[in-house]
Amino acid sequence: MLRDSYNRTIRDLRISLTDRCNFRCFYCLPNGEPPMARRETLLTFEEIVTLSEIFVSLGIEKIRLTGGEPMLRRGVVDLIGRLSKLKPSLNDIALTTNGQTIPENAAALRDAGLDRITISLDSLNDANFREITGVDQLGNVLRSIDAAKTAGFGTIKVNACIVRGRNDHEVVEMARFARENAISYRFIEFMPLDSGHEWNREQVVSGREIHEAIHAAFPLELVDKTRGSETAWKYKFADGSPGEIGIIAPVTEMFCGQCSRIRLTADGQIRTCLFSTSEHNLRDVLRGGASRDEIIDFIKTVVMKKEPRHYINDTAFVSPSRSMSFIGG
Ligand code: SAM
Ligand code: SF4
Repeated sequence: MLRDSYNRTIRDLRISLTDRCNFRCFYCLPNGEPPMARRETLLTFEEIVTLSEIFVSLGIEKIRLTGGEPMLRRGVVDLIGRLSKLKPSLNDIALTTNGQTIPENAAALRDAGLDRITISLDSLNDANFREITGVDQLGNVLRSIDAAKTAGFGTIKVNACIVRGRNDHEVVEMARFARENAISYRFIEFMPLDSGHEWNREQVVSGREIHEAIHAAFPLELVDKTRGSETAWKYKFADGSPGEIGIIAPVTEMFCGQCSRIRLTADGQIRTCLFSTSEHNLRDVLRGGASRDEIIDFIKTVVMKKEPRHYINDTAFVSPSRSMSFIGG
């Protein structure tokens, strides 16, 4: 069991497969080409499987593959097949993707053992989608949602990072899309994790504002008053329509007290918080020939250093030097 010094149990591991991306979402990867990790520093799939097996033996129950764009790594389907062998101790494998290559891969991902898929969709308008992501791919992302449904993924989660003046005017349309397509649309507050370090508080649309706008058009009912270790407040539509709304408000409503997550970056660094300003080099421990017990000791020691909370709202807040695309969202 992995427990931190605040008695939180760590059950959820997010693994970034790459810091590269074929989109350029302004809130994540703006300002041209940020430096990428050197290829030889990236964990191989062999190393990821070895470490995942150890994490699962320590009580990790959920693994989410993310990035950068995880589907850019060749062989993701095969990796998922190998991680599936860790079930049932591992009870959930999820993927967060921009959706570009999902139309042709959804069925194979499902067959390999992927349990859940989250697709990012920040605008339903062609021009605004292009403005936000830097690519002309709205049609493909919409097709990815259909493909994921056809492949049997059940309720598909769709993420939107909401930024004032950019896509906050679309939240009601997004809620309508959730109803019409029976998906779980999750609205995420803009966090200071953009590579341009241009985040500012005025651009943050609070979870409360998002809720109010949607609730005025489509009355919502909270599904569960206790969020547990989940990041999102979940709402159903009061009129019984299909679909669900999730509100993720890490900036205005901190949920660190129940956090059950740690992260492994594509280059093998453990991050104990999205906002950590230091990392722990598991790759070098592994490549240095450490025994299984030594690796376990290292992981347990690192977990004990997990921060009690983030400090976004403190005046002395320093944003991490690596952006979301490096850390793994
Ligand atoms: N490329 C994949 C994608 O876009 O879904 C996976 C990685 S991406 C970093 C994961 C999620 O992080 C996306 O849903 C994105 O909207 C969110 N994200 C990225 N930067 C963010 C920021 N500064 N604030 C809030 N959410 C952010
Ligand atoms: Fe790429 Fe995802 Fe970041 Fe957009 S949010 S730039 S798709 S990693």
